[in-house]
Amino acid sequence: MSRVAVVTGANKGIGLGIVKGLCKQFDGTVYLTARDENRGQEAVKELNKQGCQPRFHQLDVSSLDSIHRFKQHLEQEHQGLDVLVNNAGVMYGRSNPTPLVEQVEVTMSINFFGTLNLTKVLTPLLRPHARIVNVSSMMGGLSYVTPPLRQTLQSEQLTEEDLVQLMEQFISDVKSGVHEEKGWKMDTLAYRVSKMGVTALSRVLQRQFDANPGTDIVVNALCPGWVRTDMGGPNAGRSVEKGAETPIYLALLPPNVRSPRGELLLDKEVLSF
Ligand code: NDP
Repeated sequence: MSRVAVVTGANKGIGLGIVKGLCKQFDGTVYLTARDENRGQEAVKELNKQGCQPRFHQLDVSSLDSIHRFKQHLEQEHQGLDVLVNNAGVMYGRSNPTPLVEQVEVTMSINFFGTLNLTKVLTPLLRPHARIVNVSSMMGGLSYVTPPLRQTLQSEQLTEEDLVQLMEQFISDVKSGVHEEKGWKMDTLAYRVSKMGVTALSRVLQRQFDANPGTDIVVNALCPGWVRTDMGGPNAGRSVEKGAETPIYLALLPPNVRSPRGELLLDKEVLSF
């Protein structure tokens, strides 16, 4: 049975770099997914010219309909999934004039809830030794929040329900204009909180998978560093190839690896969260 890897938000940037690397290193079918069909197909054509043969499927991680359509496709064509790279993400820059509530709603729906919903819907398809890779960021480091929030997000007892409730509370605090007094006070607020959520989620999901020993499903989060993409801008120090290295490493972790499991990494090294 052929193995299957999926990368979200892969029509450009780090996601495209991950697909390119996996096409060379992953023994199986690699899916380049994108929310926009045309941009996705164009990216596939570009990779074809470079000798890479990914398959394409439309996938908007903020749409449950799109997620379920993709799940159905995977089920019919492959009956399983071996690697899921949750890379799709958005960031509003510091001077972006979009109202804060809208920034928070859009960013959370893609970066946090998109990652959560896609992973939960595809989980029944995961085969033994599956690897889930969540592209997070050190911008979501816990030094940016107050000690009580830090403690909650770091807790080994944090459940998926607790985390979802906290992220929903954050959105509602922003809507009510009370987020600063609740401890969410920082620049590029929406992005930072969404990535804190993604890193905490990776730890929570690993604990859930570990409750079913024997399946060897591993979830990790990573920061790719500051990478020259549309999001990172032209002054970033890293190439896309460099930014894609750690996600590819995590996607290809060997069976029964002891570490990293449920960690946050930078340059293939485990960081504390
Ligand atoms: P880009 O802006 O270059 O690419 C982002 C990708 O995500 C695009 O393909 C975009 O599609 C896609 N995307 C956005 N929303 C959705 C959605 N709803 N469904 C599916 N795909 C979507 O960013 P990067 O390549 O730099 O970022 C990739 C990841 O790396 C992100 O998660 C980002 O937060 C993270 N990261 C990046 C850093 C950097 O320095 N660049 C640093 C730390 C983390 P479209 O073209 O349609 O908009």
